[in-house]
Amino acid sequence: MVTTYTHEPFTDFSDAKNQEEFEAALQYVKSELGKDYPLIIGGEKVDTDEKTTSVNPANPEQVIGRIAKARQKHADQAMTSALEAFQTWKKWDPEARANVLYRAAHLVKRRKHEFSAWMVYEIGKTRKEADADTAEAIDFLEYYARQMVELKPGIPINSRSFEHNQFFYIPLGPGLTVSPWNLPFAIMAGTTVGPMVAGNTVMLKPATNTPVIAYKFMEVLIEAGMPDGVVNYIPGSGSEIGDYLVDHPETHWINFTGSKEIGTRIYERSAKVQPGQTHLKRAIIEMGGKDGIVVDSEADLDLAAESILYSAYGFAGQKCSACSRAIVHQDVYETVLEKVKALAENAVVGNPEHAETYMGPVKDEEAFNSILEYIEIGKGEAELVTGGTGDKTNGYFIQPTIFKDADPESRIMQEEIFGPVVAFTKAEDFTHAIEIANNTIYGLTGAVISNNRAHLEQAREDFHVGNLYFNRGCTAAIVGYQPFGGFNMSGTDAKAGGPDYLLHFMQPKTVSDHF
Ligand code: GLU
Repeated sequence: MVTTYTHEPFTDFSDAKNQEEFEAALQYVKSELGKDYPLIIGGEKVDTDEKTTSVNPANPEQVIGRIAKARQKHADQAMTSALEAFQTWKKWDPEARANVLYRAAHLVKRRKHEFSAWMVYEIGKTRKEADADTAEAIDFLEYYARQMVELKPGIPINSRSFEHNQFFYIPLGPGLTVSPWNLPFAIMAGTTVGPMVAGNTVMLKPATNTPVIAYKFMEVLIEAGMPDGVVNYIPGSGSEIGDYLVDHPETHWINFTGSKEIGTRIYERSAKVQPGQTHLKRAIIEMGGKDGIVVDSEADLDLAAESILYSAYGFAGQKCSACSRAIVHQDVYETVLEKVKALAENAVVGNPEHAETYMGPVKDEEAFNSILEYIEIGKGEAELVTGGTGDKTNGYFIQPTIFKDADPESRIMQEEIFGPVVAFTKAEDFTHAIEIANNTIYGLTGAVISNNRAHLEQAREDFHVGNLYFNRGCTAAIVGYQPFGGFNMSGTDAKAGGPDYLLHFMQPKTVSDHF
């Protein structure tokens, strides 16, 4: 009997010993940078002539690794090995499948700081953000393993005296996981091992900016005893192998986390039944957010400011859960704005390798340019309060940016910026604040800071987001505690880290035995 699930605790970096251990992990990973990584297909390491290079966004000269690039023929090989492995993996006892995940979780726990250190270098996470990412990866392994064991017997249904009826779940088949760069360990691992432990086989196409951490995770799965071909590692281009595998008639499901543009494209393509296809594909799509924090007139205003700060600037605002809209009651508007401004101006922006850094770089030049473009748009739509500048002389750094008096219809209040930019808008009263909060095509996260119970209850009903938080920020959902996913154009709301997540990758079967 395994222990009850509890989430992996975060590292206390106020403890000097933990800082020391983390520094040692950084040194170790630094000595490992710049290596070559092959594809892994059917347990075989496959090299390719063409490579992509992963670099440190805080220091783009620093090469994290050179990664083989999967082309269409590799996608075909991956599908062949996924189809073959499915024939045996689907018959593994769910508990035996879960054991691979428990073991993998323990292998990661033992080298926790090392995995976090890879993310410091590969995507510019501060140690706090990287540590949370690793903890969440462990959580997904531990949680989905237990969920699978619980699902194993199916759900009891009724039988009459002359029959025995059963209702249980079976896997779907091979599928494609396309994972994002912003939680390059947690979401990559979670969206891979969820379908995997449910008995499916996986083709994993990790984000182009973060292939090395995904490779490191493949090593863990292999060491944990995953059979060959159960997860195949095929980094490559979305328009080439991504589309190809989405369209492939043998693909059974697509598990995607990323932008709205690509998510809607995959959703459409996966709906089309291709020649030779004998099933309908499932598309589990997690896209963006335009998440707001509502601050009521009766509220702890320091808590409000801290919640906005961390939700807007944690990992430089590059979370789909990030707060990009602060919707503040007119009576406390100026006070909250002043408090957030003071905190933002104090936040240390710099290389995440250093312990004191609060906010690191954005992911690459493309993101840097796009965020600065939004800042220019913002200057025409609202009043810049602080920040608004970027510096790419050495790494892609953008200052924490605040706009005030933004019109709820303006572009910076409507479009996902995915950077350290928050726009303030004034609400006349609480009902008006909720109206503004709901005025978006998205519906992922939201928070309300209020001491008025009736207002919190009103928000519980009317604030239309998949993850609603009271008196805390709108990021940092924990697996098994706050199942995560959103409404409307945020995606299909398959709640990652939730009790029904695995069902998206399974189909229920009814067997009626008539005596
Ligand atoms: N689950 C994360 C959170 O609650 C965000 C996931 C994402 O940005 O894709 O902050």
